[in-house]
Amino acid sequence: MIQYKTSEEVQLIKTSADILGRAHGEIAKYVKEGVKTSFLDKIAEEYIRDHQAVPSFKGYNGFPSSLCISVNEVVVHGFPSDYELKDGDIISVDCGVFHQGFHSDSAYTYPVGEVSPSVIALLKATRDSLYLGIEQAVAGNRIGDIGHSIQKFVEAKGYTVVRELVGHGLGRKLHEAPEVPNYGKKGSGPLLKAGMVIAIEPMINLGTRNIVQERDGWTIRTADRKPSAHYEHTVAILENKTEVLTTHKYIEENFKF
Ligand code: MG
Ligand code: MG
Repeated sequence: MIQYKTSEEVQLIKTSADILGRAHGEIAKYVKEGVKTSFLDKIAEEYIRDHQAVPSFKGYNGFPSSLCISVNEVVVHGFPSDYELKDGDIISVDCGVFHQGFHSDSAYTYPVGEVSPSVIALLKATRDSLYLGIEQAVAGNRIGDIGHSIQKFVEAKGYTVVRELVGHGLGRKLHEAPEVPNYGKKGSGPLLKAGMVIAIEPMINLGTRNIVQERDGWTIRTADRKPSAHYEHTVAILENKTEVLTTHKYIEENFKF
């Protein structure tokens, strides 16, 4: 069942999202060659706990860390580890914050050092597709309109859309109804109404759309081991507008590509 939020609840999610945006900005300062992904996790957890909040992912269904860190062919749900970032990697940093009873969720994929132009193009197209999806997330449209716009844009560039993992409603729980696929038909799926808060999160692959899960029970990678990109925002659908509650502003102040 979809949990519609009051404007007070949307404000609380926005407060959670502001802490999240600033945590991402702290992480962005350290995304460079030679940095261990576990160090980024430590930065994020400290920042979140210093701001009277809790990392949403830590302990969620047993997930061990505050961030999901997914490098190169890993699509999502990678563990932070002793792996040191190297020149030419891409790294998706996905983070959630729980504050005053409400979750927020956002992700950003970074290039590390010199990344091949074809992979930079994948990152930019995935980021652009997120904003195209957000444009469709307005009251009166349907969930399928979001996925349709994402799918049409990225497939026209020769990329593929992961099907098994999707965006989601969120609020008091990290994952609520409805599911928000990154593919779909115009005019299909649940109606978007004021009070819905959803995470839109395209996961776009350079090669095949097929994925496999590693034996650790979490890590999802592309079947052909080609790179995958992931960007995410939490958005609120209001009567006359859609508000992007999370922000990449603090990342983009510290990190340009
Ligand atoms: Mg996320
Ligand atoms: Mg999410």
